[in-house]
Amino acid sequence: MFKIGQEVVCIKSNVHINGNIGVKRDKTYTILNIIQCKCGNVSLDVGISMSDVAGTNCGCGRDINYGTIWYQRSQRFRPIQLDHAFANEVIAEIIELVKEEELVKLN
Ligand SMILES: [Zn+2]
Repeated sequence: MFKIGQEVVCIKSNVHINGNIGVKRDKTYTILNIIQCKCGNVSLDVGISMSDVAGTNCGCGRDINYGTIWYQRSQRFRPIQLDHAFANEVIAEIIELVKEEELVKLN
């Protein structure tokens, strides 16, 4: 479902016990790395690191990474999807503009 380099939007904020915000709802992030726990759960590196994070716990009890990267559970994100109706509107407008331009040239 997720791949490195993909843009995702946060749907559930994550606040550290010390009050620092990990990821914020409605904010867009880019996936830098993906790791999967032995339990099957997928966590994402979206560029959040904290000096006092010594590793990330999956939630099943296993440590999934050591270091200052604060991996976020993939359930906190959804892929950014193109709104096709809006895209079609924009394309139709561009076609109209091109047609007008061509008519001006013909005259
Ligand atoms: Zn796990």
